[in-house]
Amino acid sequence: MKILVIGAGPAGLIFASQMKQARPGWDISIAEKNTQEEVLGWGVVLPGRPPRHPANPLSYLEQPELLNPQYLEEFKLVHRDQPNLMSTGITLCGVGRQALVQALRAKCVAAGIAINYETPLASKEQLEAEYDLVVLSNGVNHKSLELPQALAAQVDFGRNKYIWYGTTQLFDQMNLVFRSNEQGIFIGHAYKYSDTMSTFIVECSEHSFARAGLEHRSDSEVAAYLAKTFAAELGDHGLVSQPGQGWRNFMTLSREQACDGKFVMIGDALQSGHFSIGHGTTMAVTVALLLAKTLSAEADTAAALASFNARAVPLVRLFKDHADSSRRWFETVSDRIGLSNAELTISFDARRKDLPPLQDALMATLGYALGR
Ligand SMILES: Cc1cc2nc3c(=O)[nH]c(=O)nc-3n(C[C@H](O)[C@H](O)[C@H](O)COP(=O)(O)OP(=O)(O)OC[C@H]3O[C@@H](n4cnc5c(N)ncnc54)[C@H](O)[C@@H]3O)c2cc1C
Repeated sequence: MKILVIGAGPAGLIFASQMKQARPGWDISIAEKNTQEEVLGWGVVLPGRPPRHPANPLSYLEQPELLNPQYLEEFKLVHRDQPNLMSTGITLCGVGRQALVQALRAKCVAAGIAINYETPLASKEQLEAEYDLVVLSNGVNHKSLELPQALAAQVDFGRNKYIWYGTTQLFDQMNLVFRSNEQGIFIGHAYKYSDTMSTFIVECSEHSFARAGLEHRSDSEVAAYLAKTFAAELGDHGLVSQPGQGWRNFMTLSREQACDGKFVMIGDALQSGHFSIGHGTTMAVTVALLLAKTLSAEADTAAALASFNARAVPLVRLFKDHADSSRRWFETVSDRIGLSNAELTISFDARRKDLPPLQDALMATLGYALGR
């Protein structure tokens, strides 16, 4: 079996390494559009402590502690300059994306999987002629490939603006900070992901964005404005930006089905979901493990893909529902900004409560994928 994985992010890397472990004789290679050094984004939060949680990609590394993960067990909501401190309920694991992706790449290379960087993409016809299976794990970069019509991407942009920063200020809890000023409401999402760095994401409505004149300010002026807005949290620590990480409206990418012919999608390429539920990488890992399992379990590739599609699509739809509910709660926060800190916390906690639990669906899929 000759497999090409397109995209060397968490989804593609976990799939390739687990598939190779299950079928050492299969020829698996990875094509990545960026250079080896170019990994976008700061830290992300993952579930549990490795190696215990199967959806935490660090669980698949021999020495996860080398990535300097940070364990977070408290959640702090700040509103009206008052903190409300709670337990997160489960241990969360903050880790740098750069460190995570490089470690997973090293694992793939050690297993004999070639990763070809800055690869120009072949046409759909060339890919079909050369490979038995093409696994698309190219994130939300949906315009880069010509695909079968059945796999067309549906794209929806959130109403809020957001920007992803790093900072040397260390946030020991998952922090959610609501700050109002004359221009509007600004929301900070922050947590540490190494012993020197934290992620700091800011989101605001288009209205607040326009009133603060953020579109017309330079990158350093924007960072200074936001550092001042969140001075109580950041102190003298500034906000560090990354090339290619400017203001965006969150892109939710969805597909009707996960596969067609020789093409199959995993990770954000199949379904992305708003960062405020912190589940994108968890989903990427779970769906990658599921694909490796179905391909190992069925001798016939078409039957394996049908089985994968039947299990993956309901799971990623539920993920989308949870992520959309959370995104909408943030987009309409001005309706609730008059609430007390305790009331806002209750509303935040309840934003996904009418949906079937995502955690149960994830654990059921992981149980099947790992034969537990
Ligand atoms: C602001 C923000 C915060 C987030 N926070 C969290 C969090 O706390 N926890 C969490 O679990 N998730 C979080 N996520 C989501 C998480 O980053 C993604 O869900 C996860 O990275 C998906 O993994 P992936 O491998 O599918 O895609 P990616 O990580 O995007 O990897 C895709 C790879 O494909 C490559 N590629 C793209 N196009 C091509 C092409 N044509 N050919 C070859 N290669 C290509 C890219 O260069 C990249 O290396 C966050 C996302 C954002 C935007």
